[in-house]
Amino acid sequence: MNVVLLGPPGVGKGTAAARLAERFHLPHISTGDVFRKHIAEKTALGVKARDYVDSGILVPDDLVTDMVRPELVKAGSGFILDGYPRTLAQAKALKDFARIDFVLNLSAPIKTVVERIKGRGAGRADDNPEIIMQRIREYEEKTSPLIDLYRNEGMLFDIDSTQDVEGVVQQCIAVLEEKNG
Ligand code: AMP
Repeated sequence: MNVVLLGPPGVGKGTAAARLAERFHLPHISTGDVFRKHIAEKTALGVKARDYVDSGILVPDDLVTDMVRPELVKAGSGFILDGYPRTLAQAKALKDFARIDFVLNLSAPIKTVVERIKGRGAGRADDNPEIIMQRIREYEEKTSPLIDLYRNEGMLFDIDSTQDVEGVVQQCIAVLEEKNG
């Protein structure tokens, strides 16, 4: 089962993805986590991605796709993908190297997600108010068109993410169990 989690920053994709990966025994692939690891280790990719990530701007499509393609090929059939695709170009590229079965669209009002990010204790470099708004603008402009794309393909399921993590995870599990049999 190949699952994509879609949603604005702060909606809880990362936490939900980790829980679903555990529940269904699938690898959790988070492009944000992979970038942060590369940046911390100062790899060539990390050096290229750093300024984008720090300023809350999407990393260029080719760079992200080149990074994620081998991960998905390695995972084969079965993954929880969190943070990819985030643009129409990425969605198009993804079609050529992986099959997607379900897209879970985690949604909550912008006000709610901003408050949640501000409440995160970990202190990610891109969790300051100005950068949060930039990340949300990127989401609205470049990522939100994917909702209609996947809805029209019949693979999108809406998850009410105004609920707490447990509620969100349970909704996701219910959809996946029902659809995947
Ligand atoms: P996240 O942890 O998912 O919020 O991602 C953190 C940052 O990594 C984003 O603000 C982007 O700069 C970058 N990033 C992660 N995934 C992608 C993607 N699919 N396309 C472009 N940039 C990405």
